Amino acid sequence: PAPVLAIIGRPNVGKSTLINRILGRREAVVEDVPGVTRDRVSYPAEWSGRQLTLVDTGGWDIDARGMASRIAEQAEIAVELADAVVFVVDATTGPTATDEHIVRMLRRSRKPVVLVANKVDDERGELLAAELWSLGLGEPHAVSAMHGRGVADLLDVVIDVL
Ligand code: GDP
Ligand code: MG
Repeated sequence: PAPVLAIIGRPNVGKSTLINRILGRREAVVEDVPGVTRDRVSYPAEWSGRQLTLVDTGGWDIDARGMASRIAEQAEIAVELADAVVFVVDATTGPTATDEHIVRMLRRSRKPVVLVANKVDDERGELLAAELWSLGLGEPHAVSAMHGRGVADLLDVVIDVL
């Protein structure tokens, strides 16, 4: 079976947009309203002749209660079932307490993690992306899921950890 890559991160950081960019079509639901992707949704994908399964998840929220906490639970399950994880952070807002919380969850999982600094739509954003070194997950890979900037380089890195 194809290796499984879980895409996780807070609501609205651009997880579904990134998946659509990788798939080359609009399949994952993108919304301006946080919390649209509720369950884990899998998509078969390919890069450099390698098959992989992308798993979109709902946003992970530290203060989650009720439905939101079930969505977070789904994200944790996605991590447990994954061979590697792409952790998406919004570079324009910087790391939040929830991001720090996700980092701790990811450390416990011992899964290979690729850190993505999304919404770096132009060169000016690179400096913001560099601030995500502070999360302690290694190099933040700056991308713009919306425009495709940096996504090919990111996939090369992802294929290497799978
Ligand atoms: P998710 O909740 O993490 O799946 O986030 P979505 O993919 O639904 O995107 C949330 C919002 O962020 C939408 O309005 C997207 O258009 C926007 N967005 C996603 N990626 C980018 C990006 O690279 N740059 C900018 N400027 N906006 C983005
Ligand atoms: Mg989504």
